[in-house]
Order: sequence, then C-alpha cells, then structure tokens
Amino acid sequence: HAKSARGGSFRFFDVSDHALARERRALQHDLGNALHRGEFRLVYQPILALSDNRIVGFEALLRWQHPTRGSVPPTAFIPVAESTGLIRSIGEWVIEEACRTAAAWPQPSRISVNVSAVQFREPAIAAQIMAAIAASGLAPERFEIEVTETVLLSDDETALEILRTLSAGGIRVALDDFGTGYSSLSYLRKLPLHRIKIDRSFVQDLKTDLQSAAIVKSVIGLATDLGIDTTAEGVETAEQLGFLRAHACGEAQGYLIGRPVDAAEAMAILRRQPKRPGAGAASAADKPL
Ligand code: C2E
Ligand code: MG
Ligand code: MG
Ligand code: MG
Repeated sequence: HAKSARGGSFRFFDVSDHALARERRALQHDLGNALHRGEFRLVYQPILALSDNRIVGFEALLRWQHPTRGSVPPTAFIPVAESTGLIRSIGEWVIEEACRTAAAWPQPSRISVNVSAVQFREPAIAAQIMAAIAASGLAPERFEIEVTETVLLSDDETALEILRTLSAGGIRVALDDFGTGYSSLSYLRKLPLHRIKIDRSFVQDLKTDLQSAAIVKSVIGLATDLGIDTTAEGVETAEQLGFLRAHACGEAQGYLIGRPVDAAEAMAILRRQPKRPGAGAASAADKPL
C-alpha cells in the first residue's frame, strides 16, 4: 500500500499495480536472456538528402523478437534496459552489428546509431565505439551517433568529453528529437555537433500549426548559420517534404521516404541507386581541365 507523493493525492496499489509490477519483472527477466538467445535485430530506415535526392544513409533501429510476445517496440523495452543497466551490453551489440552492416554497403553511405544517456555515463564507451568501427573497416566519418538532450543534462563533463573524443576521431554527432527536451541554445555552442534531427512532432504539425512551421523554419536557419546539418524526422507527406525543401532542410527521414527495412533490403536500396556523379572511376573525367 502506498501513498502517492505526487499531487498530494492518495491511492492504494490495486490489482493492476501488482500486475504491472509482475509484468515489468517478467520483461526484465526476458530482456536479460534476449541477447544470448539472439532475439535482437536491427532494421534500417533510409535517409534522403534533399539537395540531390539520394539516399545518403540509414538509421539503425533496434527490434526485439520476443518468443511469445512477438515484436516488442524499443519504446517498451529500452527504458527497462536502461534502468537495469542491460542497455550497455545491448548497446554494444547494436554498435557492432550496425558497423558490420554498413561496412558491407556498396556505396559509402552513413550509418546512424542511437546511443542511450546511460551508455554515456561510462567514459569507456568512446574507445568501445571506435574499436567497433575499426574492427569493421568502416571509415569513422560514415558513423554517426544520435544522442538526445538527456545525455547533456548530467552536470559532470563525462558526456561532453566522450563526444569530443568521438568527434576528434572523425565520428559524427547528431542531436536527436530536437525540440522535445530541455532544448537550450547553449548546447549548440558547447557541443561538437554535426547534425540536428528535428523531432517528428514539429514535422507532423507543419500543415495545421503555424507555430510548428515557424519552429522548423527557425531551427533550419539557426543550424545552417552555425554550420550544422539538419534532418527532419517523421516525414509522411509530400506536402511536408515540399515545405522542408523550400526551407533548405538538409535531409528527410520518414515513412514517405521509406519504412525501416532489414539489412538485405537496405543493401538492395543502395544497389538500385545510381552512382553519385563524380564518384569512383568517373571522377577523373569530371576534373576541370
Ligand atoms: P528515434 O531515434 O527518434 O527513431 C525514430 C523513430 O520514429 C523510430 O521508431 C522510427 O521507426 C519512427 N519513425 C520513422 N519515420 C516515421 C514516420 O514517418 N512516422 C512515424 N509516426 N514514426 C516514424 P522506433 O524504431 O520505434 O524507435 C523508437 C525510439 O527508440 C527511437 O527514436 C530511439 O530513441 C529508440 N531506439 C531505437 N533503436 C535504439 C537503439 O538501438 N538504442 C537506443 N538507445 N535507442 C534506440
Ligand atoms: Mg534516432
Ligand atoms: Mg528521433
Ligand atoms: Mg524519437
């Protein structure tokens, strides 16, 4: 029985509270076994460069295929993995798997990997990421880590130091879900930042909400002036894409461009794409006389 401290309200644990707690323990238990049982896999969502309409990379997104529950979405199990510390070993697998996949791509495309704030409490994560990249043979410039603002909320310098180390090693840093956290403009100055990902909540309201449109426009402008690239998340309509293009957003990601696909399909998407003019053997011919 518990008295809730929040809002001064008073309530008792009921049957559903117990059921929830049991449910959470079961999830925790299964999550502890998921890695060695090979229940995780990555899917890859294409990212489109608006300047030349090319797929420039993919974001790796984690999936858990539970033996009885089916596919458990990351929003359901990542918080659990974070609170138990399991995110460290799961995250390590994600990084290694993403590097292996991207290293095999036929075109030098970028792989973007989400890293949790919990993983950023250990300074060793920087060396771990760089070792995984080196082992895969991937060029560090093709690896981008996505962090959210929560990474930067901790008052110590650890997270900042990790980002500086990674950035010095050539790895790109993206600020994910921009606009949803305690966004502070001072982060943009403080961080070694290569990209801002504009959260899909702003993109989805573009048509109906003048304020969202103003925010998206301003964020693109501000980032561009700071030399930071922009990716809009959750692009679902041609209208949204048109707005982003008109306001010189760098890249777009969302169901309109493509849903997350498995590694084989990501490879097929890249193979179907014509070679970039000036890339590879053709480049000599493009050189000015
Ligand atoms: P995120 O990093 O912001 O990833 C984008 C999420 O939006 C993905 O959900 C993606 O499937 C979804 N999405 C993409 N385009 C659209 C669209 O047009 N409309 C809508 N409604 N949704 C779209 P997903 O895969 O469920 O991942 C949710 C979140 O889980 C991610 O948000 C990320 O924060 C976290 N996550 C995923 N994989 C990992 C991982 O390997 N490690 C960590 N630490 N977090 C991860
Ligand atoms: Mg992300
Ligand atoms: Mg995001
Ligand atoms: Mg998100």
